[in-house]
Amino acid sequence: MSELKGWREIPIAGVTWKSSMETKTGDWKTFKPVIDQNKCIKCLICWISCPDMAIQWNGEKVVENYDYCKGCGICANVCPVKAIKMVKEE
Ligand code: SF4
Ligand code: SF4
Repeated sequence: MSELKGWREIPIAGVTWKSSMETKTGDWKTFKPVIDQNKCIKCLICWISCPDMAIQWNGEKVVENYDYCKGCGICANVCPVKAIKMVKEE
């Protein structure tokens, strides 16, 4: 007889039960990305690379959503034309 618990006996843990859309997850960042629309070539590499979906395509251009941006800087690093600058939060 196994002493290991089956999945029914294991307490529920680590289960996401709430949508992060309800909680603004970007309020602790130190730096925020600022997109220079004059430099942007609309390649969408930043859009596809952001782990928090905080770069959005509005049909005409990519825009920052600071409510969910954590300031990781990935978008600025992947931009091929350096159109994104990380700027210190005030
Ligand atoms: S800094 Fe990070 S979280 Fe914020 S928009 Fe760029 S990739 Fe997304
Ligand atoms: S990666 Fe740079 S050039 Fe491409 S869409 Fe984003 S800001 Fe624009």
